[in-house]
Amino acid sequence: MINNTTIFEEVLKKVYDDFYDRLISDPYFSEFFRNRDVENIKIRQIKNLIENYNKFVEGNIEEIKVNYIQLAKLHDELGLDFNSYMDSLSDLEILILKEFFHFYKTHPNNKLDIDIESIFINFENFFDLIRKYSAAGYLDNLVHREKKIMDEFIEANIDYKLYEIKDLIDSHLDWKEEILDFLIDEGNIDEKALPVEVCKATKWLNKKLKEEKSKDKREKLEKLEELHVKLHKSAEKLINLKKEGKLFQLVYEYNNFIKTSLVFLSSVIAYTTSQEIKNLQRDPLTNVLSRRLIKEIFLNVMDLSILSGEPFAVAFIDIDNFKQINDKYGHLVGDEVLKVLAKTLKEELRSSDYIFRYGGEEFVLILPSIKSLSNLFEILEKIREKIESILLKVDGEEIKFTVSIGAVLVKESKRVPLDKVIEQADELMYYAKKTGKNKVVVEIFKI
Ligand code: GH3
Ligand code: MG
Ligand code: MG
Repeated sequence: MINNTTIFEEVLKKVYDDFYDRLISDPYFSEFFRNRDVENIKIRQIKNLIENYNKFVEGNIEEIKVNYIQLAKLHDELGLDFNSYMDSLSDLEILILKEFFHFYKTHPNNKLDIDIESIFINFENFFDLIRKYSAAGYLDNLVHREKKIMDEFIEANIDYKLYEIKDLIDSHLDWKEEILDFLIDEGNIDEKALPVEVCKATKWLNKKLKEEKSKDKREKLEKLEELHVKLHKSAEKLINLKKEGKLFQLVYEYNNFIKTSLVFLSSVIAYTTSQEIKNLQRDPLTNVLSRRLIKEIFLNVMDLSILSGEPFAVAFIDIDNFKQINDKYGHLVGDEVLKVLAKTLKEELRSSDYIFRYGGEEFVLILPSIKSLSNLFEILEKIREKIESILLKVDGEEIKFTVSIGAVLVKESKRVPLDKVIEQADELMYYAKKTGKNKVVVEIFKI
């Protein structure tokens, strides 16, 4: 204990003045402290720190734990992120040690009741505890928040025909729930259920891999398998960190775990729905997807893009002067043109891309994992050139046709509405028409 509370207060007063001066000169924190009574906050924090430090020296750890978990949760709820909170704790600790040292040096006779060495050691241990319980506070809030997000995500994505994997997803969700409860001290964990070998999903994946003949689909399944192993490894790591009381690292690993969980679950959903969608919802003339499921597929691709951080693209394609083709050669020839266009799109695109017949002679593409705007332009320009080069022979007639394409690259960290994305792609397609047709125009999506 620091017997001379006045000295302690004096030191802390200087520290907190300094500390808050720094915080307020930082644009992120200044926003945070706007309209808050900083003087009052300082006084309370000084009092609080002294009380907790004294409890620490007395060995009353339980109360410190409750206090700092509460305090971290409060900061989280006020919108301060975990990293910034931890950084400011470290800053505070250094400032305190420096100030004590300065005080000690400027009072060489040390008539004051200060044992500088024990203060230094005590403070280090004290701040380690604060960090640990702050991590626990943040973790608790994170878990509760993520549970909600995950439920909403599943609810939004699982409402179409997924009977095959419903059971699998449910058991994985229960498993995840169990782990999260264990992390926040609200339940026990069955460690026998952690290894990937005993998981239901492993059996499902193995069975699928045995049955699947197409190389492309096998590759997708292998990717799923990889993700699944990663997920279980992350879970085991979480449990161990929790057992070792390394709450600080736990928060980081936790973010990893949640991200992997979501990517895994949505990949399973994407895999199975794409199988079903590809079998069911087709336009009879062109055999590409009808627009009925465009919204669900768009949501799925967007969620994966948000989680993986990889942009995706939406393109709008319209045949140039299609009326003239119909008028000159007849409606049936027009139909042939539509079929050839759809076939060409299928040949040119990857199997993970989606092609929709959106209207009469309009097609929409959803293209996952597009690196950049120039990448998008190259892909579409290749399609445009290919179509331009086609010489279609029907009833002794030789027909050529072209398309105009407008496309947006979507790199958002939050969901955006499909109609806004299509609207912008459509506008770019019109711009291509207005400026000469047989053209590709791309842009980054702006909300
Ligand atoms: P633009 O270059 O400005 O797009 O000119 P366009 O003639 O293509 O423009 P518009 O969109 O006005 O014409 C589309 C035509 O597509 C009108 C319609 O008769 C025809 N069409 C729509 N659906 C079908 C179809 O299923 N089969 C055939 N053969 N024609 C169709
Ligand atoms: Mg049109
Ligand atoms: Mg047209």
